[in-house]
Amino acid sequence: AKAAGGNQTLFFETDMGSVAASNFRVESELRQAISQEQLRLYIQPQVSQNRQIRGAEVLVRWQHPQRGLILPGQFIPVAEESDLIVELGEWVLGESCKLLRQLQDRQQQLRLSVNLSVRHFRKRNFVDWMKALIQETGIDPSGLTLEITEGLFIDNLEDVIAKMNVLTELGIWFSIDDFGTGYSSLAYLANLPVHELKIDQSFVRRAPEDERAAALVETILVVASRMQMDVVAEGVETEAQADFLLSHSTQIISQGYLYGYPQPAEVLMDQLN
Ligand code: C2E
Ligand code: CA
Ligand code: CA
Ligand code: CA
Repeated sequence: AKAAGGNQTLFFETDMGSVAASNFRVESELRQAISQEQLRLYIQPQVSQNRQIRGAEVLVRWQHPQRGLILPGQFIPVAEESDLIVELGEWVLGESCKLLRQLQDRQQQLRLSVNLSVRHFRKRNFVDWMKALIQETGIDPSGLTLEITEGLFIDNLEDVIAKMNVLTELGIWFSIDDFGTGYSSLAYLANLPVHELKIDQSFVRRAPEDERAAALVETILVVASRMQMDVVAEGVETEAQADFLLSHSTQIISQGYLYGYPQPAEVLMDQLN
């Protein structure tokens, strides 16, 4: 079996052997998993300088009846190869908006960030679907952030801009996930409604010791501050990383094991009670 990270998965490698067969199996099992409600929302806190929770990121897990809890690295890449990622994304967004509605009903000012795949965003009806979901769940959309990646800006930019503008007018925020690791140019930042940048974990991990990673983090902080965007540092695990980040910005939002692991959404709701 290959190490985790590619499309093929440890959990699903079967007697059929080949990656193609394995992917096919994941796909059909995942399709069932969605309809049989085997997916779970986990959420991880995002905290401000004084460790106050300002929001949380939704991270999906698959509670498999035989194989136990499966991480997204094992099935999202397979889902992304077809419109299965749209089905999965619609489920995650639907549940996330229900959760946000519960939070808003309790006067909790938490921002909920949801990962959105490029393929899903590019669907022709995405904006209308999103509008209907907002109506249906009765959320205030200004509590919702959609995390997208730079891969979205590689082509069809006009269509992307138009869609982002409509959603922004509704109050939704856009966050650039894994910022600085994609292939697109920075130019898009000048033309798009972007509200937040997420510093990739690889930079956060190296910054305290590695001068080049440190320089990148500092540059991202300057760009964000000049463009009045929020910055979230992801993958913060150590006090040294936290100290480095906070010594460069008091505004930075932090997310990582140092502050909290992803937990089932119910756990957070119980804590807020
Ligand atoms: P991501 O969006 O970059 O999410 C951050 C990943 O880092 C998550 O992995 C999270 O559990 C993990 N993480 C958080 N804090 C730390 C830390 O301090 N140290 C380390 N080493 N890792 C940390 P996870 O939950 O396994 O998700 C992996 C990826 O799967 C996500 O990366 C995202 O790209 C994708 N994903 C997760 N949920 C969804 C979803 O609902 N829809 C879509 N389209 N993609 C999703
Ligand atoms: Ca993310
Ligand atoms: Ca990320
Ligand atoms: Ca990532």
